[in-house]
This record gives sequence, structure tokens and C-alpha cells, in this order.
Amino acid sequence: METKRLPRVYSAARPTGRQHIGNYLGAIQNYVKLQESFQSIYAIADVHALTTVETTQGLKENCLEMALDWFAAGIEPEKSIVFLQSNVPQVMELHTYLSMVVAIGKLTDLPTFKEKVRMHPQNVNYGLLGYPVLMSADILLFKADFVPVGIDQAPHLEFAREIVRSFNFRYQTKVLIEPQMKATATPKIIGTDGVNKMSKSLDNDIELAADEKTTEKRVRSMVTDTNRVMRTDPGNPDICNVYAFHKTFSPAELCAEIDRECRVAGIGCVDCKKKLAANLNAALAPLRERRAELAKNPARVWEILHDGAQRASLIADDTIRDVRDAIGLAQA
Ligand code: AMP
Repeated sequence: METKRLPRVYSAARPTGRQHIGNYLGAIQNYVKLQESFQSIYAIADVHALTTVETTQGLKENCLEMALDWFAAGIEPEKSIVFLQSNVPQVMELHTYLSMVVAIGKLTDLPTFKEKVRMHPQNVNYGLLGYPVLMSADILLFKADFVPVGIDQAPHLEFAREIVRSFNFRYQTKVLIEPQMKATATPKIIGTDGVNKMSKSLDNDIELAADEKTTEKRVRSMVTDTNRVMRTDPGNPDICNVYAFHKTFSPAELCAEIDRECRVAGIGCVDCKKKLAANLNAALAPLRERRAELAKNPARVWEILHDGAQRASLIADDTIRDVRDAIGLAQA
């Protein structure tokens, strides 16, 4: 039986390599903040990555790149447990137990599954269908109270909560606990196309650790208020993605100035983007410096992940023991 413990936070993300500003504002920033007041556990979901990749070439490298961004952003191994999902295999066992309380129709109905089928019609595998079950197992294995994720993950989190209810009802137990979502103030960052969620696969992203010139180029390519065709046309900051970024990365006085001047065509989009790129580069400079320093010693990063897996395993073992017990499996 567990004694009273600090409330726990758990989140994971597939190893997509270098992280973008959407990942940062939607998730990582929250990871960093929450580690101050919660027991925080963050995983690099390399097993989930297998559901869509055709080759694992580059997978290890992507894990490292992602870890570098996380640590550079301020996740501290002294405060948070950070590990690779495949290194704590207890999650696979919990996934199997949970799969018995999930109706297949529920999985095929999920919009995220339909979207993945559309994107990977040649590779609709069993793992892809079970993706949300594995994700639930991830969260429930650590008995997380809160899960910091972007708004796109809300259906998956609701799914995890339903699994808890089904499992606890089936086995008349309280062993699994329903996690709550913790969104940031910016749970959905729009990409440079001005329409879709920022995402590496849509090539509408701005990498956190890009160099200054690349950042300027990406910002220059951002779609603004599409009704503003000529420099002399007044713009509408309320529907402009560049302005949305200013609100996060620029001081309040500049935001007020742009808001005012854009509406009367006093400032053009080119200048507005130049100011944004400068502020973005300034805001990300410390993170980029820390990353460059960490990247000199990849062995240290692997060591931190190894240590994280050991610590995560201890918690996972406890849950698995409780779960087997609740199900009524014999310990011969
Ligand atoms: P992904 O890279 O899609 O696996 O997402 C990793 C984490 O970043 C998840 O918590 C997502 O919800 C979050 N995230 C990804 N893209 C965005 C975005 N454009 N805006 C806000 N959060 C995002």
C-alpha cells in the first residue's frame, strides 16, 4: 500500500527529434513549471513512435535531440524523472491488462485513429489501433494526477479516464486513478501557414534550437492576415498569427504599438515579422546556448535517461504489483 505522496505529473511525447515552438509552448514549458511543485515524470515515447515509422533509422538520434531540447528548456534531472518509454517495459504489461477492458469500436471511432489511417493507409497496424491504450498505460502506470499536454491530446486523456472507470469497475478496485489534463495558456500553436497546428510533419514549424538566420527565414514565411494584400491595406491583428506570436514573445508596449499601427497600415508585415524574429531569437538565446553546451556531452544525456528509467521502474513495479493483485492474478 502506498503512503501519502506528492501529487504526480506525467507526460510523454513521441521522439520527433528537434522540438518546435508548438511543443515548447503547448507542453515543455508546463513540464518545467510543474516540476517545481509536483513529482514530475516525463517520457520519450519511443514505443509509440513504432506505430507509424517504417524504419527505426534515426530513432535513437531523435530521442537524443528531443532530450537535449527538454533539458535545455529547463527540465532538471534532479527535479524530474526523464526516461525512454521502452526502458520501462512494465508499461507493455499494463497495456495488455487494459486492452481487456476496451471495446474495439471505441478505438476505431477515435478521430485521432481515423486521422492516422488517412495519413498512413499502407500501415494500419494493430499497434496504431492500440495507441491510446498504450498511452493510457503510460499515464496510469505512474498513477499520475495531472497530465500536461496540448489541446490535441484531450480526447486521448478522456479515453484514459474512461479506461480507469472500466478497469476499476470490472475488478471492483480503486487501484487506478483518473488523471486530469493540465493545458498551458497556449494549448494550440498555429504553424507558419497560419492555418494548421504547428507540426514538423506539415513543415509549418519553427524549431526551438534553429539558428538565428533560419528563425528569421521561417518567420518571414509566416502567413499573416490574408485580407491584407497591399502594404497600404489596414490589417487585423486579431486574426494574424504573427501577432499571436508577438503576444507571447514581445513586450506589452510593442504589442500595443503593433495592434494600433497594423490597423491603420502604419506598420507593414515585413517590419512586423522582423521585430518578431528579433524577439524570438532573443527569448530563445539562453535555451540555445544551454543546448549547445549539453550537446557536447551526449553520454551524459544517455546517463540521465538511464538513471531516469531506474527511478521510473521502481514506481512502475509498485503499480504492476497492485494491478495484478486487483485483477486477481496469482503470484506463484
Ligand atoms: P507531438 O510532437 O505531436 O508528439 O506533441 C508533443 C507534445 O507537444 C504534446 O503534448 C502536444 O500536445 C504538444 N504539441 C505539439 N504540437 C503542438 C502545437 N502546435 N501547439 C500546442 N501544443 C503542441
